[in-house]
Amino acid sequence: MPHIKEIIDLLPKLDHKGRELITKAYHFAETAHEGQSRKSGEPYFNHVFATGKNLANLGMSPTIVAAGLLHDTIEDTATTARDIEREFGKDILGLVESVTKLGTIKYKGIERNVENLRKFFVSLARDMRVIIIKLCDRLHNVETLEFVRPDKQRRIALETLEIYAPLAHRLGMGKLKGALEDAAFPFAYPKEYKQVTELLREKTEAEEKYLAEVEKQLRKLLKQHGMEGEIIDHRVKHLYSLFKKLRRHDMDIDKIYDIIALRVIVDTVEQCYHILGVIHGVWKPLPGRIKDYIASPKPNGYQSLHTIIFTGTGGIVEIQIRTKEMHEQAEYGIAAHFAYKEHGSKKKIERHLENHYAWLQQIRDAQKNEKDVDKFFENLKMDFFGDRVFIFTPKGDIIDLPDGSSALDFAYAVHSDIGTHASGAKVNGKFVSMSARLATGDIVEVETKRNIHPTSKWLDHAKTALARNRIARYLKFHPEFPERML
Ligand code: MN
Repeated sequence: MPHIKEIIDLLPKLDHKGRELITKAYHFAETAHEGQSRKSGEPYFNHVFATGKNLANLGMSPTIVAAGLLHDTIEDTATTARDIEREFGKDILGLVESVTKLGTIKYKGIERNVENLRKFFVSLARDMRVIIIKLCDRLHNVETLEFVRPDKQRRIALETLEIYAPLAHRLGMGKLKGALEDAAFPFAYPKEYKQVTELLREKTEAEEKYLAEVEKQLRKLLKQHGMEGEIIDHRVKHLYSLFKKLRRHDMDIDKIYDIIALRVIVDTVEQCYHILGVIHGVWKPLPGRIKDYIASPKPNGYQSLHTIIFTGTGGIVEIQIRTKEMHEQAEYGIAAHFAYKEHGSKKKIERHLENHYAWLQQIRDAQKNEKDVDKFFENLKMDFFGDRVFIFTPKGDIIDLPDGSSALDFAYAVHSDIGTHASGAKVNGKFVSMSARLATGDIVEVETKRNIHPTSKWLDHAKTALARNRIARYLKFHPEFPERML
């Protein structure tokens, strides 16, 4: 039986208010989901509890953890939006509703919809808290896939690998990404999963013996050079990322050098470069394989130095060198925003790191000053697609339109025939005029009548080139008669 203590214990810095909020959400969700069960036969509450716990594990603020606990109440129980607002306020209601809305997207095959979905996610990530809740929700769903109908298993697993995990990756959340992929991999590609597991087992056994020796020497070197570094021996746990690499290398595991890597964690950037030089003085590096992701971080913000060395005893070992901040960043960061464009001067790198650090601290210490964190998230609005809106059809398809588009633009984007005969529209269930301006996340349903046709007035309501062209063409072939002629 899940217990609130499991969540509270993950948030050591929680204040009284935060604890009260989470406890209240916990009891509210427990009551709301009472009597419901999952496919596994477990109480449904276990799922929302696991979601809240995943969020707490990431050090999220009480608001986010509470919203995670409540995320299925409106959709799956008798609870109404009003109830949530009354008990928990507008902000949490907004989160719960956004997560619910995300749930209605349908997955229609990798090729067709991924790009749409990805864009949609990015756009909805204007409030990134929603995405984080959704990812934690998905993590539990995919960890309990064994209880789902076989035909659904594969769809959910693929969706996780193609959409959710890349999203976590893009946000720099390495841990969550790995967890999502590992849970989904065996269901998406069972045969390959077995193959990779076997390859990995053989390879690790063969390589273990080099590692201990290199690690011992590394420790000595750090000491000699007055550094208080820490060495972590990193084994590949994430089978899916190994699988992707293997596919690029004809499934030849001997071409993959970071199956077991040693991570050297030091205090400063200078020490990173210093110890790299020291290492190359002792072991010969594999030519062309030294990577400086500190000066040139990966697009998701990942920073580290990588080198591959010959151990001198027949082995090849990858060594990754980074600061503590970079290490935290690689595991938890939501780093997409910090894609580092103008690198070069040390000062800029330093400043960049400071930003990372400040930002990480804010999230990790979320419980300490929740207000700041929520505000911080709010400021993190992504502008990548700031000039686009993403609109749903009632079936969950996504139509991507320029900002300022109307229901009429939407109708034409769905199908020119629907545009031509559009008589009215419902936005989120409410009737609106065809000129109504749409916002990201709106669900729009267009009604058509065969006797409705474009008039020149329609041009005032259409913004997209597509709709305007179609209307103009219609008018050209069906000129409007001045009234007196009728
Ligand atoms: Mn859920």
